[in-house]
Amino acid sequence: MSELREKLMYKPKNGFDRLSPAEEQEMEIYSEHYRKFLDNGKTERDCVDYTVELAEARGFVPYVPGMPLEPGKKVYVDNRGKGIMLAVIGKKPLAEGAHIGAAHTDAPRLDLKPNPLYEDSELAYLKTHHYGGIRKYQWVTIPLELHGVVVRSDGSKVKITIGDKESDPQFVITDLLPHLGREQSKKPLGEAIPSESLNILIGSRPLKDDDGGDRVKLSILNLLNEKYGIQEEDFISAELEAVPAAKARDLGFDRSLIGAYGHDDRVCAYAELAALLSLDVPEKTAVCIFADKEEIGSDGVSGMQSEAFDYFMESMCKTQGTALRTCFAHSFCLSADVTAAYDPNFPEVFERRNSSFINYGMGLCKYTGSGGKSGASDASAEVVGWVRKLFNDNGVIWQMAELGKTDAGGGGTVAKFMAKRNIDTLDAGVPVLAMHAPYETVSKLDCYMTFRGMKAVFEAK
Ligand code: MN
Ligand code: MN
Repeated sequence: MSELREKLMYKPKNGFDRLSPAEEQEMEIYSEHYRKFLDNGKTERDCVDYTVELAEARGFVPYVPGMPLEPGKKVYVDNRGKGIMLAVIGKKPLAEGAHIGAAHTDAPRLDLKPNPLYEDSELAYLKTHHYGGIRKYQWVTIPLELHGVVVRSDGSKVKITIGDKESDPQFVITDLLPHLGREQSKKPLGEAIPSESLNILIGSRPLKDDDGGDRVKLSILNLLNEKYGIQEEDFISAELEAVPAAKARDLGFDRSLIGAYGHDDRVCAYAELAALLSLDVPEKTAVCIFADKEEIGSDGVSGMQSEAFDYFMESMCKTQGTALRTCFAHSFCLSADVTAAYDPNFPEVFERRNSSFINYGMGLCKYTGSGGKSGASDASAEVVGWVRKLFNDNGVIWQMAELGKTDAGGGGTVAKFMAKRNIDTLDAGVPVLAMHAPYETVSKLDCYMTFRGMKAVFEAK
């Protein structure tokens, strides 16, 4: 009877019961590189810069329309410093399609408002407008860093990164003390911290020997002017992002987990990148895209709905004498994005039989969406079947993943924008605990297996 049980019943095993010692070793090395990627990629712009650095070290060159595209050629396109697309040309022509990995490198955060700087009660603050789905109460009383760019009045651009070096100052948003929080504590979680109270404290020292108003603000402006050559009006043409200050760290006595800001979706982006960088000459052209703006709907020139991707692909197709639509019709895309890991602290929102679990490998999501698959591209049985066989044939540890209970909520990814291009697409990625929190948790095994899954896709025939 146990033979029959083994043969017929679907009973996924914990990945650690299936991992070889050699794989465990590779997993640790991979995790170390991934933590480095996180520490170097706190924003989408940082991710692009670091990716260019890694790619160029592996022989990738900036793509120039019309350049020869022989098999094994490695190219990339930097999309306005906020998104990036990389390709390794395959043996087969683009007319037979490409293998695409699509992830996003933007993450929930606090953007500065266009006119952010003010002083109140002799303290200086920056006003923020949150980006993406955050739980506001999680962003108070944690150390913050500031990353981004400012375009000055003469058109020149200055990069600002402050808070990530040991010697740097950091920033914070204060919260009410419990002693005076009686009324605040009665409010629903989502209302306790209003958006307009997410003001970052940036200084308190007034300008000496000055009898005008706003002496703290003026003193801060003076510091900013000395260091970055900027004036208050320059904030209007700036993109400054406040992000959590902690570095990526191993978690747990057994060091099996990684804690960091921005696993969603840098954990999948890095898996794609590492897989792409490991390629020699793939059968089909392998394409990796890091999109921006996923957390706010994938709009904008650097989002997955932008034609920047089509422009790049069409240009390569033209060199090979192929129509873009012919290439897309024969392509496959793994929309690599994180999913929610089953959290025993909150069992009420998960449906155990269809949840993804920590250490059970890369999670395949046939569909995302909410309220009855609304907004999902819902991959076909044939597409899921192809990926499942590919993963099984290549020793990839994977699991099926639904975000949570049908009525509990939902979410989406870039999958539907790839599917709209007539590209067969499946969602897959790393299960995350506390997704969108300033400090998210993933398991090393799931990270490593997502890399292995991406590699299998890029190396597929
Ligand atoms: Mn995501
Ligand atoms: Mn997200």
